[in-house]
Amino acid sequence: MRLVLMGPPGAGKGTQALVIAGVLGVPHVSTGDIFRANVSRGTPLGIEAKRYMDAGDYVPDGVTNAMVRDRLSQDDCRPGFLLDGYPRTVEQVSELDAMLRSDGLRLDAVVELEVDIDEVVGRLVKRAADQGRSDDSEAVIRRRLEVYGEQTAPLLAVYRDQGLLVAVDGLGKVDEVTGRILAALSIER
Ligand code: AMP
Repeated sequence: MRLVLMGPPGAGKGTQALVIAGVLGVPHVSTGDIFRANVSRGTPLGIEAKRYMDAGDYVPDGVTNAMVRDRLSQDDCRPGFLLDGYPRTVEQVSELDAMLRSDGLRLDAVVELEVDIDEVVGRLVKRAADQGRSDDSEAVIRRRLEVYGEQTAPLLAVYRDQGLLVAVDGLGKVDEVTGRILAALSIER
């Protein structure tokens, strides 16, 4: 299965993506995780990405698309993948579509985790305290939510029009939300 998991920062995408990818036996491809790994290793990609991440802005499409193209071309992604945090812009949607189309492939579904924004801010503030992520200060959290609303939320309509969007209530215990996602996709655990 080729899936995309969407939702605002703090919706629980990373947590759910890990579980769902495990159930499906496909790689969990998180652009945020790949960027963070590059930041820790101090690679040129990490040095470039950090400037944007620390401000709560998106890393430029050219950089992000090249990174995803490289990751999805690896053998483990051949049977399928779960994308977490990509695509996030209209240009990334077209680029992903082109990457898949050139191999005669398409997405099976785009899962939207629906959450209340106040709940999300609370979760992000807590995560900042627990994990000390440098992009989790309150001002940056606000900026990230604003960027999501401007650049990523409009993609939901694009995928809805393509008949790919599956909206799932993201509120509740991790296991409950996982159950809803699997049920919405008709996947048995
Ligand atoms: P995440 O962990 O998915 O919230 O991503 C953390 C940060 O990495 C984001 O706030 C962006 O700065 C950057 N990032 C992750 N995915 C993308 C993407 N698809 N396009 C641009 N920037 C991204």
